Amino acid sequence: MSDAAPAPRPQAPEVGALQAALAASRFESVVAEGPALFRGARDRGDWGAASDAALCVGRACSNLSRAEDALRWTQESAQAAQQLGDAERECVAWGQLAMEQARGDQLAQALDALGEMERRLPEVHREGAVRALLGSMAATLYGMGLTAPALLAYERALVIAEAEGEPGQVVTLRTNWLVVANEHRRLIEDEDPASAVGLAQRMERELALLEPAVAALDAPRGHWRLAHVTAAVHAAAGRPAEAAAVLQRVLDGSPALPAVLLSSLWVDLAKARLALGEPDRAREAAQHAAALADTALSQSRRSLHLQLRSEIAELMGRPEEALALHKRFHQRARAVLVAAVETRLEGSLARLSALDAVVENQRLRAQNQGLAEGVARMSALAATDPLTELFNRRGFEAELQRLGEGRAGRVLALIDVDHFKAINDRHGHATGDRVLRELARCLGAALRPRDLLARHGGEEFALLLQELGVGAAAGVLERMREVVAAHDWSAIAPGLRVTVSLGAVQPAPDEPLADALQRADRLLYEAKHQGRDRVACDLPGGAGPDAPP
Ligand code: GH3
Ligand code: MG
Ligand code: MG
Repeated sequence: MSDAAPAPRPQAPEVGALQAALAASRFESVVAEGPALFRGARDRGDWGAASDAALCVGRACSNLSRAEDALRWTQESAQAAQQLGDAERECVAWGQLAMEQARGDQLAQALDALGEMERRLPEVHREGAVRALLGSMAATLYGMGLTAPALLAYERALVIAEAEGEPGQVVTLRTNWLVVANEHRRLIEDEDPASAVGLAQRMERELALLEPAVAALDAPRGHWRLAHVTAAVHAAAGRPAEAAAVLQRVLDGSPALPAVLLSSLWVDLAKARLALGEPDRAREAAQHAAALADTALSQSRRSLHLQLRSEIAELMGRPEEALALHKRFHQRARAVLVAAVETRLEGSLARLSALDAVVENQRLRAQNQGLAEGVARMSALAATDPLTELFNRRGFEAELQRLGEGRAGRVLALIDVDHFKAINDRHGHATGDRVLRELARCLGAALRPRDLLARHGGEEFALLLQELGVGAAAGVLERMREVVAAHDWSAIAPGLRVTVSLGAVQPAPDEPLADALQRADRLLYEAKHQGRDRVACDLPGGAGPDAPP
């Protein structure tokens, strides 16, 4: 069933010769010469030729019933096509691989290969390629025991091949259709005899079309395959004598066919002899089949081979062995299906749990994000004074650390409201709060963005001036004092006057913040002591504690 399809593309001459050898059924020579061609093409990076050569070897191995080699070479072909990025070659190789796997009872893998093919199929537009893909799809379905859809796929491929005017392909596809049709007919015979008869009649018509085409083509392989399906049609139509005659003619010519195929031809002959009432000659044919099957099939666990061995045992007059093999065939077929379904389910489960993991991840990430936002919000809250919305002491210290503690060219000041207790006492705490809020606003408004103002506690503010000359810093501090003193506080309380005192230092490069604050606090105390509403600073090159205004 795995016949050579012509090259999907124009080929390098040596690969063309390989494909011609395959088309002429010279499988041994393809297997002998193909691997070197493949390696040569691969080594010079000619992935197209490598893919084609590997595919030829794979097909030849398949025809020689060397299933493992067929799989390996077909995989090589698919990989080379992937290297090339050639959708058509890839699809052809995947299709071939699916077919091999289906025949080897590896249904799940066959479905996967078909899936790969499907994935690349939209990029395939050439008629010949579509026909080849339909052909391998049909063979895959047949390998899975799905004869009805296999017939449909062959029919569609046949329509294309006829339109293409490809006589070799027409012969191959029509022969394949007949093989599958015969199998399908046997399957439905008992349950749906009317359809079985209808199909047998259709087989006769197709056979009538096939005979002249094979004669015109004159390829040895075409001849023995024709004999095979002709015998099947005769047998199906109740003409065992004709079937036997055709088969005997082919087998007398000792065709160079793989043992499995020869064995099945002998089985067909034995059945025809039996139908003719010739049990001795039937047994003789069955013995030929058995001898071939013993060498070729004794180790095989493939369900198709079990079925053949069961038929042989039956014909050899060993009904118990036949029944046992038949049971094993059904168990095997069932196990193959179960394994495929399980593998598929495992795949689906894996995909589902991967999806679930993605969803879970997204949820966790959202949670983490929420958490991170929460943490950020909380640390912002922890660093902020709710009354003034300035940094609090903690925020101020953290911010100083972030900016790099002890950097030169900075001025650190403490600003304390003068006689704030009295304001509270006179106007109430609420008014006191409003004073603190208004103070934060007007001090902040007088500063540059890079300066840092914080509520250091109570009615005391801390200020960091950055990147200012010392002289300029003294000026800014004085302006702070003035801004507060000149501010119109009557909106908060009629006749209210608010002043502040400031103590300022220039922290030494490695001076801890606490030490600098302590120095500033001492200067602030001095400013208070000297009468309040003034700036006391210890800025190198500066004026020292300022004189009151
Ligand atoms: P000085 O000029 O010496 O700094 O005198 P003062 O009254 O400002 O200083 P003192 O330390 O005696 O009083 C500070 C007052 O500030 C005491 C406290 O009740 C008040 N205070 C501290 N935090 C707040 C606050 O958040 N809101 C209000 N309304 N008052 C506060
Ligand atoms: Mg005070
Ligand atoms: Mg105070």
